[in-house]
Amino acid sequence: MSRPAPSAQASADAARTALRGLGALRDDLAALYRDLHAHPELSFAEHRTAAEVARRAGEFGYEVTTGVGRTGVVAALRNGPGPTVLLRADFDALPVTERTGLDYASTTEGVMHACGHDMHVSCLLGALKLLADARETWHGTVLGVFQPAEELGQGAQAMIDDGLYERFGTPDVVLGQHVGPFPAGTVGAHAGPAFAASDSLKVVLHGKGAHGSRPETSVDPVVMAASTVLRLQTIVSREIPGGETAVVTVGALNAGTKDNIIPDEAELKLNIRTYSEDVRTRVLTAVERIVRGEAAVAGAGREPDITETGSFPVLVNDAGAVARTMAAVGEVLGADRVMDPGPVTGSEDVGLFGTHGEVPVCYWLFGGADPAVFGAALAAGTLDRDIPSNHSPFFAPLVEPTLTTGVTALTTAALAWLDLR
Ligand SMILES: [Zn+2]
Ligand SMILES: [Zn+2]
Repeated sequence: MSRPAPSAQASADAARTALRGLGALRDDLAALYRDLHAHPELSFAEHRTAAEVARRAGEFGYEVTTGVGRTGVVAALRNGPGPTVLLRADFDALPVTERTGLDYASTTEGVMHACGHDMHVSCLLGALKLLADARETWHGTVLGVFQPAEELGQGAQAMIDDGLYERFGTPDVVLGQHVGPFPAGTVGAHAGPAFAASDSLKVVLHGKGAHGSRPETSVDPVVMAASTVLRLQTIVSREIPGGETAVVTVGALNAGTKDNIIPDEAELKLNIRTYSEDVRTRVLTAVERIVRGEAAVAGAGREPDITETGSFPVLVNDAGAVARTMAAVGEVLGADRVMDPGPVTGSEDVGLFGTHGEVPVCYWLFGGADPAVFGAALAAGTLDRDIPSNHSPFFAPLVEPTLTTGVTALTTAALAWLDLR
């Protein structure tokens, strides 16, 4: 049995005590961050990162298990009866060629920590160390979950399928954070649907190839594709209620090899973002209807192929969990540094840890942009140009105060859920 939730004040007091150790860790954490940034690893290939995480967490006194969901790492600190708090950091990088010019830029050609997962790992290791050192002040279990392959939308599921909850216990709450392109030093959480569901589709339109001089003998898949792309863009504007929202992007359109050959097929790659199952179903149904309809109108002799190539469920933040967590975080950081960013169209598979065991999730954003640069860009109306966002080859979180803010938020959040002595 867990005791009643500690007040935000009590959690904040415990956090302030634990955070006294942060000053002594800062240089080491910054060095760790730069090292991880210089050595990014792609999804499910995070071997060096996993080894570094395992080594450090073991030194802090955690029971460490590697190879969970292929390359994932679980660090458990069982500290008497009480709630189990899952703290999650993803740790994969992206196939992006870094262009930041930083002296700790990626040393691996074509791979970059362009989403800031290196910052997530550094913050979680900092929080795990502080929580271990402060173990006299709390009861319960801390599970540090270092997740692979978030960028593929497969890592959380892989860890769950590998028996994460059966082997380590079902947590009482899932907590985690993502660094983003807004001022360092601030955090933001949105209750309810917070990160969009994402569906990726590949569509192959089948036509009939011919010599470019004799279109009458062809069924031209280039024209079919062009018409399909335009009509797909009517889904959001004409079929989704004004009070709802969705994104339909055709990110790739490929057909043909040469000016005087009509090819026999065209390929489209679509990405769809939605916040509710109802809208998601409507959009997916409309996509299929339009793709099949355009093929039929063009006189295609064969039905198009529509294949799902990836999906992330919507990430729903539990309102009670957000209120409890952010009340404590606001006490420590100052209420003016905690805001509600609203729902974002990015997607995250962390929600699977919540839906799998019906566990409340509180997943927040923390800023990584230089506040001075951000302020100037905001005033000039040039945020889109001057503040690189996640996945950009220029994405470069300011090491401090980003690191301190992330460690502070995570440590405080954990103590808002553990039993305090
Ligand atoms: Zn990403
Ligand atoms: Zn990410």
